[in-house]
Amino acid sequence: MTTRRQFIKIVPLAGAAFVVGCSDKAAEAPKVVAVAPAPVAAPVTNEPAVTPAPAPAATTAPPSAANTSTMALVDEKDATAVALGYVSNATKTDTTKYKTYAAGQHCGACQLFQGQANAAIGPCTLFAGKQVNGQGWCSAFAKKAA
Ligand code: SF4
Repeated sequence: MTTRRQFIKIVPLAGAAFVVGCSDKAAEAPKVVAVAPAPVAAPVTNEPAVTPAPAPAATTAPPSAANTSTMALVDEKDATAVALGYVSNATKTDTTKYKTYAAGQHCGACQLFQGQANAAIGPCTLFAGKQVNGQGWCSAFAKKAA
C-alpha cells in the first residue's frame, strides 16, 4: 500500500518523466530569445540641458619654413636667373638692360623673398627649392609692403 508521503515523492518525478517523454523537441537546443533592454528614461532635472562644448576646430599648422639649410644657392647662370636678370649682388645689376632697378632694391626687401629681411640668404618663390642672396636682385623685384 502506498502511503500519502510516498505518493507526494512520486508525483514530481512522474511529472518530469512525462514532460521529457512527451516532448519531441527535447533534443533540440533551447532557443535564445534576445530581449532588447528597456529604454531608460533620462532623469528629470530642473537644470537646463548642457550641450557639449564644440570640438576645437582643427588647426592646421602654418606651413613651416622650408629647411633652408640644404637648399642650394641660385646660380646666376641658371636659365631662370638669366631670364630674370638675377644677380647675387644688386649693385652689379645691368642698369642699361634693367631700367627698373633702383638703388636700395635687393632681395631682402622684395615681397617674394621668403627669408628674414636681413637674412644673408633665403628662399624666393621664383626659384623653387633654391635660395637667393639677400643682397641680390632680379627684374621681378617687388617692394615688400611696409
Ligand atoms: Fe630677389 Fe625678389 Fe627677384 Fe626673388 S623676385 S630674386 S627675392 S628680387
